[in-house]
Amino acid sequence: MNLIMLGPPGSGKGTQAVRLAKELNVTHLSTGDVLREAVKQGTELGKKAEGFMSRGELVPDDLIIGLIEAKVEGKELTKGFILDGFPRTVPQADSLDEMLTKHSMSISKAILLDVGDETIITRLKKRAEIEGRADDTEDVIRRRLEVYREQTQPIVQFYKSKSVLAKVQGEDTPDNVFTAVRNAAK
Ligand code: AMP
Repeated sequence: MNLIMLGPPGSGKGTQAVRLAKELNVTHLSTGDVLREAVKQGTELGKKAEGFMSRGELVPDDLIIGLIEAKVEGKELTKGFILDGFPRTVPQADSLDEMLTKHSMSISKAILLDVGDETIITRLKKRAEIEGRADDTEDVIRRRLEVYREQTQPIVQFYKSKSVLAKVQGEDTPDNVFTAVRNAAK
């Protein structure tokens, strides 16, 4: 089972991906988590990524693709995976396809969490209070939504054209969304 969780920031991707990975016993990989850890540790990757992240911009494709490639080559994803926050651009989606094909793997489903802008802003402001994420301020949230629309939304069509897209209504309780996500993954 090789899955991708798609959706705008605050759509519940992370929450649902963690839960589904546990249930299906597959690897959960969040590029946002990997990058935040790299920033915290002060690694080369972290130093390069930090500025983009704090402005709500995407980290350049080559850095992110390199990171995923290392996981694929290192056989870390062979028991199945849920990718959360990747791919986020068409070049990332193309590269992922190439990498997987090379290893005789493919995406089983791309699950899109559908959530409106108002809900997103409310949720992210709440998350800012609870988790204190540096990029959850109102200006940066707005920029991240713009970036999602401009750069990430086009990959929805990419997976639709491959007939692996499953859309899930994300404006419900986490439990109800999880039930829908689990059905969509089948
Ligand atoms: P997230 O936790 O998925 O919302 O990611 C937080 C931030 O990390 C994003 O706003 C980007 O700056 C960066 N990031 C995470 N994943 C990617 C990706 N696949 N491509 C580019 N930048 C990313």
